[in-house]
Amino acid sequence: MTEIFTGSFTQQEPIPEDGIAAALGVMKSGRLHRYNTIDGEIAQTALLEEEFAAQTGASYCLAVASGGYAMTTALRASGVEPGDAVLTNAFTLAPVPGAIAAVGGRPIFVGVTEGLVIDLDDLEEKIDQANVLLLSHMRGHICDMERLMQICDDAGVTVIEDCAHTMGADWNGVPSGRWGKFGCYSTQTYKHVNSGEGGFLITDDEEGMARAIILSGSYMLYERHRAAPSREVFEQVKYVTPNISGRMDNLRAAILRPQIKDLPRQCQRWNALYKVVEEGLRNTPGLAIVERPEKEGYVASSIQFLLPHWAPEAVQDFLKGCAARGVELKWFGGAEPVGFTSRYDSWRYAESAPMPRTDSVLAGLIDMRLPLTFSIEDCALIARIIRDEAMARHAAAAQ
Ligand SMILES: *Cc1c(COP(=O)(O)O)cnc(C)c1O
Repeated sequence: MTEIFTGSFTQQEPIPEDGIAAALGVMKSGRLHRYNTIDGEIAQTALLEEEFAAQTGASYCLAVASGGYAMTTALRASGVEPGDAVLTNAFTLAPVPGAIAAVGGRPIFVGVTEGLVIDLDDLEEKIDQANVLLLSHMRGHICDMERLMQICDDAGVTVIEDCAHTMGADWNGVPSGRWGKFGCYSTQTYKHVNSGEGGFLITDDEEGMARAIILSGSYMLYERHRAAPSREVFEQVKYVTPNISGRMDNLRAAILRPQIKDLPRQCQRWNALYKVVEEGLRNTPGLAIVERPEKEGYVASSIQFLLPHWAPEAVQDFLKGCAARGVELKWFGGAEPVGFTSRYDSWRYAESAPMPRTDSVLAGLIDMRLPLTFSIEDCALIARIIRDEAMARHAAAAQ
């Protein structure tokens, strides 16, 4: 019998009941804007920032309108100006080079390894070309952060971390987002917490956070922020920092507070699903698992595997076979971007030189979401389907 999967790869869990109740409270008050508070009231947004700062161990936190906005704000607060080069990953999603383009910067792409992390040898070669690295922990894969920080510190390069896929993850016990000057997060529906749209910026740098808060549109009401530096720091930068509105509102903050509290449990649930798919795919002929380093405390809200040296037609046929059985996979090796699978050479507003090693990794890179609405049994079934479809083709797939 041919097994078929009938679940949805894009269905998230409902907002927790206490988040719904808190959201109703905000709506009944009418005070949705973060600075619209009555005497003695602390805005939901300010409380959320304090809670996320405490959870990550950061001194300061700012909640904003999107993950992309968090990145552009971090770039601006780090002094990136139009025309400046910014190092970033060749393998990431479009909002990352997009954030660099938004501040008028020029992305310099750094390659990807078979472990799906930034190629640190390539980074070493290109490190002299920019003052800032926007590092994307793409699909939750974290590189050797000790070596990366060594390379960047030695060269005086500021690191901004894109943690859209690593909220709750760590390298060697230090949370992702706490290695660089800024950590940027997204709270958009397809990330680790869900407020529809939204994001966070964390840092220990007091001047950087003062700039970020003013950039986000504080109307000089920065004293209403709690996970923020002292008034004196704001006074040093307030006249030279433009207001580029991108605040979070109290409704989203109310929805997020219980989700942030519950994040550690959710991370364990993701990893439990991941392990079932990983085990189910292990030792499949023609298919390579991406092994996780011991120091990486990952949160696997998606899974990737490689079909090394498969001909493009064979990959396409494999994807079709899986799709016919209800398993939706994404392929980063396609010539044209489909959905979110664009790559460095799809972003034609930015110059790039060919990167053969990166191209050969991406040519066989398959990606699959693992929403928490999947059960352990769903994951076992999905792995059996992928395994079947790969085995049916791998002998003929070699190019
Ligand atoms: C989603 C995402 C972002 C940005 O998030 P938005 O909130 O959609 O702006 C940044 N980086 C990566 C890798 C992402 O997947």
